[in-house]
Amino acid sequence: MELLYTGDKQLLEKSIEVTQSDLTDDFNNDIVNLTNVMYLHDGLAIAAPQAGMQKRLFVIRNSSNPSIIINPEIVSFSKETILSREGCLSFPGLYLTIRRPETIMYKARNLEWQEQEGELSGEDAVMFQHELDHLNGILFVDKVSEFKLKRAKKALQKKITKNSKV
Ligand SMILES: [Zn+2]
Repeated sequence: MELLYTGDKQLLEKSIEVTQSDLTDDFNNDIVNLTNVMYLHDGLAIAAPQAGMQKRLFVIRNSSNPSIIINPEIVSFSKETILSREGCLSFPGLYLTIRRPETIMYKARNLEWQEQEGELSGEDAVMFQHELDHLNGILFVDKVSEFKLKRAKKALQKKITKNSKV
């Protein structure tokens, strides 16, 4: 399993719901591999399609074991929003300031196929929304204006040029 980068069409596809019959040893191996891709690239989270696995799940890094979030859904959003700086493993070096709902209520399943529910806010809510977008083929560059995106890409280009001179 390898990390897919911007330009790869698989990143634009909608991923398929996980069923209980998917939970085989092979599936568990895929999740271990996916988690390793996240660690290898020093990510805080990774969505399955970012490593070519078109399934509705993502991994979130924790201080202990990573959380495996299966078939995530957002049940409700707060009206309050926050602006935060987001990066994405599939867009190395690119950071965008994006406005999203500040608090969400979510539903998902875990690897034991138990239903999980909860509320997230702040950075945790932002991360959940960013990863869930990946499962719908939506990338963080779709969340900002063309102008903002151009400016961020220019800044990245400047940084790369500067680094290559040193
Ligand atoms: Zn991402």
